[in-house]
Amino acid sequence: MNQTPLSKFKRTLENLLGKDKFLTKEEDLLSYSYDSSYLIRLPSCVALPEKKEEVVEILRLAQKYKVPVISRGAGTATTGSPLPHKGGVVICFSKMNRILEFNEEERIVRVEPGVLNGELKNFLKKYGFFYPPDPASYAFSTIGGNVATGAGGPKGLKYGTTKDYVLALEVVLPGGKVLKTGPSTLKCAVPYNLTPLFIGSEGTLGVFTEIVLKVIPLPSKRVLFVSIHEREEEPLDIISELLKKRITPACAEFVDKTTLLALIKGNILNLFQNKNFSSLLFLELDGEKETLNKEMILVENFYKELKIFFEKAEDEKIIENLWEIRRSISPSLKILGKKRFAEDVVVPRRFMKELLFRIRNIEKEEGLYISCFGHAGDGNFHVNILFDPENEKKALKTREKILKEVLKLSGTISGEHGVGYIKRDFVNLELSPLQIEIMKKLKKVFDPDGILNPQVKIPD
Ligand SMILES: Cc1cc2nc3c(=O)[nH]c(=O)nc-3n(C[C@H](O)[C@H](O)[C@H](O)COP(=O)(O)OP(=O)(O)OC[C@H]3O[C@@H](n4cnc5c(N)ncnc54)[C@H](O)[C@@H]3O)c2cc1C
Repeated sequence: MNQTPLSKFKRTLENLLGKDKFLTKEEDLLSYSYDSSYLIRLPSCVALPEKKEEVVEILRLAQKYKVPVISRGAGTATTGSPLPHKGGVVICFSKMNRILEFNEEERIVRVEPGVLNGELKNFLKKYGFFYPPDPASYAFSTIGGNVATGAGGPKGLKYGTTKDYVLALEVVLPGGKVLKTGPSTLKCAVPYNLTPLFIGSEGTLGVFTEIVLKVIPLPSKRVLFVSIHEREEEPLDIISELLKKRITPACAEFVDKTTLLALIKGNILNLFQNKNFSSLLFLELDGEKETLNKEMILVENFYKELKIFFEKAEDEKIIENLWEIRRSISPSLKILGKKRFAEDVVVPRRFMKELLFRIRNIEKEEGLYISCFGHAGDGNFHVNILFDPENEKKALKTREKILKEVLKLSGTISGEHGVGYIKRDFVNLELSPLQIEIMKKLKKVFDPDGILNPQVKIPD
């Protein structure tokens, strides 16, 4: 019988990994055919390696048989980045989920890529340490996926995002070579530093098998203010004023009036009943007791001066319950449209109000709900265009209009979710032909046959 390269690849891998760690039945493959976007792509097979040596072998065989390789963490990406757009093997890292080393003196932790962000946080908390990057998906997304997307979250304002914590990586390249990037030291000036190149590379340059992260001491206390605003854009003014007063909140999360509507319709927001308001601001301060108290009084007085109505929480349980409202936003938006385009645009902070104003105009022009919430402290709005299937064309036009407005305001089309498959065509609007040409050459250096996550990130 004449065997295709794919069937030879599959047979060899099945012998190597065994049936428990190598899936080929359609009913098993279905679980790996989706992410949090609207796309569905069935893989040819799925590998569940338990150790680096197995990943090396998968990449050696994939290069030999020219089979696409798609890395997958938890599949929570919103862009189609962990999906097999041209078939191939999905490597899922759910079995490589060990915390390998924690060194308090060096303040570093070494992990396998399948460790969940939330598990790492809980582990470090026992020792009084902290890994700040906190995508809203932190309880169920992996560190490997976070590094590959360059994930951020509410705490980005004060603590930065994933890129600020990755010290070194172990990466397997097509053909099976193992590349170690960077030492695990806090400083290194020996060129070129390859680590940042892989952060946000969305599986297109190599496959991570180990990640060394910087950690910091856990702040001893935090306080959360949740305020309501009649003027929708008022929270954006407040953030600017607080930053000018040299207060850096740990988080400043904005909830606009369309998002509020979804929360109220879905009975998720039962706070502030009988009050008239158009937006919310979640403002968290953290730090050591004395400094925190001073900042807390300053914020309280500032809010009182402006006659802003707010709730303040200092108890950990109440704080977490209030944050649950913020984390419920994404699922609650379904009430305003069966489908959505989820964008994560960023503009310089000074243009946020202008962007909100332009989005409200587009919302009126197109007659679709556009929710606009998120990490307002660092200029990052999660813009969700909500629509029913019959309005898909209109939603596509709306998306293009919004992304163009973002670029006119010196912004970027993605702050943290990445480009994936869905936003690939818009990259040409943001980057120059020279930038794209250099990126294509870089991709060829690491992946000469283009087998890593084809059709993701870089436009054709
Ligand atoms: C409800 C919800 C809220 C979200 N909130 C946020 C948010 O606040 N901030 C934010 O940044 N994102 C957010 N996201 C998006 C998503 O959770 C992040 O992009 C996350 O980093 C993806 O992690 P994952 O483990 O699910 O990776 P996957 O979705 O499986 O993969 C994402 C990318 O990483 C690559 N990858 C995975 N593992 C490896 C590896 N070992 N080596 C090389 N490449 C690899 C994949 O190929 C793919 O390109 C949210 C998603 C949901 C569903």
